Amino acid sequence: MTAHGERPRLAVVGAGPAGLAAALAAARQGLTVTLVDAAPQAGGQFHRQPAEGLGARRARALHHRWSTWERLRDGLARHVAAGRITHLPDHHVWTVEREKDTDPDLDPDGTFVVHALRGPAQEEPATVRADGLVIATGGYETVLPFPGWTLPGVVTAGGAQAMLKGGLVLPGRTAVVAGTGPLLMPVAAGLAAAGARVAALVEAAGARDVARSAPALAAHPGKLAEGARYAAELLRHRVPVRSRHTVVAAHGTDRLDAVTVAALDPDGRVRTGTGHRVPCDTLAVGHGMLPHTDLAETLGCAVDGRRVRVDDEQRTDVPGVWAAGETTGIGGADLALAEGRIAGLSAAARLDSRTPDRSSWRSAAAARSRLRRFASAVDAVYRPPAHWTDQVTDDTVVCRCEEVPAADVRAAVGELGAGDLRTVKLLTRAGMGWCQGRMCGPAVAGLLGCELPVSRRPFARPLPLGVLAGATEDPTEDPQPVRPEEENA
Ligand SMILES: Cc1cc2nc3c(=O)[nH]c(=O)nc-3n(C[C@H](O)[C@H](O)[C@H](O)COP(=O)(O)OP(=O)(O)OC[C@H]3O[C@@H](n4cnc5c(N)ncnc54)[C@H](O)[C@@H]3O)c2cc1C
Repeated sequence: MTAHGERPRLAVVGAGPAGLAAALAAARQGLTVTLVDAAPQAGGQFHRQPAEGLGARRARALHHRWSTWERLRDGLARHVAAGRITHLPDHHVWTVEREKDTDPDLDPDGTFVVHALRGPAQEEPATVRADGLVIATGGYETVLPFPGWTLPGVVTAGGAQAMLKGGLVLPGRTAVVAGTGPLLMPVAAGLAAAGARVAALVEAAGARDVARSAPALAAHPGKLAEGARYAAELLRHRVPVRSRHTVVAAHGTDRLDAVTVAALDPDGRVRTGTGHRVPCDTLAVGHGMLPHTDLAETLGCAVDGRRVRVDDEQRTDVPGVWAAGETTGIGGADLALAEGRIAGLSAAARLDSRTPDRSSWRSAAAARSRLRRFASAVDAVYRPPAHWTDQVTDDTVVCRCEEVPAADVRAAVGELGAGDLRTVKLLTRAGMGWCQGRMCGPAVAGLLGCELPVSRRPFARPLPLGVLAGATEDPTEDPQPVRPEEENA
């Protein structure tokens, strides 16, 4: 029994594949789960659904693995109806803190207090209390700067897909999809299938990079078949694929009207004289993904490189905190599902002494091992061009929030001796704006010639000062409990 005398409560932050799998597994085992998510609907990035008001009749046409989504969606609906899961969409978690109970015998680890801002305007505070926490907040895209990348018409690859899946709109009529990573193929295929002309898919990785990882990739025929299906779709829509190429500049006055695409040499340098212009009104660009680690870092969880460190049960090194999905490393939706299931089963076993469903655990653990090997092989293939900074002219904006050009960053490093991101930030304001360096961090690190360090941000989201002032009052004196019946109405 817990200190509050009820079934153990688990808060799961993130309703993508990992969070959904964790919530369903834990609820099935008897925990009371609150699933908190910033998006208006469950599904995360991979199963992003069209806004309800759009009345989409054939949403599945934009999706792969629809049956997996149906299983997750229906499972969630069943548990919500039975009162085992409370789903809180449109809740943006800005921090999680641990509230120590007055009686350590009853509650040695204390209770977690999840602080969120509700609604699209993110202004109404809400809190959720729980005995355990699963962090399943996924990852975000990296985009490295190049001349013209701030022009209207240049969007992230995932952003283009989000417009299509979530808003049922195309970002433009003629698109170039560029950068590096496995996300580019589904984005190009999705845009083409929805009616856009995809003038080129420009991928920095080449046949040699694939060949190096070929034995490891070949061990996953299912994944290769998935890649082959995307390739067939690109062929069917006559999308030219330029591997070992990169976009060196975007052109236009008020908005994008063309990009220059150039070939890369084996060292990742642009080959002189290979640049050619490709007319387009949309550039969907992405250079890989990074895990969201802010909430885990706030709670003091160890982070390896850029991913939250977890053990075989998906436990972080902070008692009562699990992490699953892309927050523990970029690996795709199937890996996120397997990790989420293990986290949910482990949470039920640890918080409520439930004997885990052994066969479910074993199959998820086997899938996790297999998919982690595949993710490492994929990671070795896709890298931004090694010398991408050569293309960044001095007037290229690096930090979009604070409009800091590359010249300022270079001056901070070359003339003022800045040797780390923090000093560059203090000298130039790069990373000081709304996104707090999430977007420009990799670019500044590249210009500095250093690895992207772990960022210690106290808050996962920007928040109004008034909310912060309210939250600093003792939450045990003035709790603002979320009423599940209201939230699910
Ligand atoms: C933009 C984008 C597009 C993608 N498109 C594809 C694709 O087409 N094909 C493919 O194979 N893979 C794609 N991926 C990768 C794929 O989505 C992931 O592999 C998979 O969704 C990972 O699942 P997850 O549960 O770990 O994270 P996600 O699916 O990213 O889910 C994380 C959830 O956490 C929520 N969240 C994050 N921070 C907070 C917070 N502070 N408060 C509350 N909620 C929060 C988000 O709203 C989201 O719903 C894409 C990734 C991104 C970022």
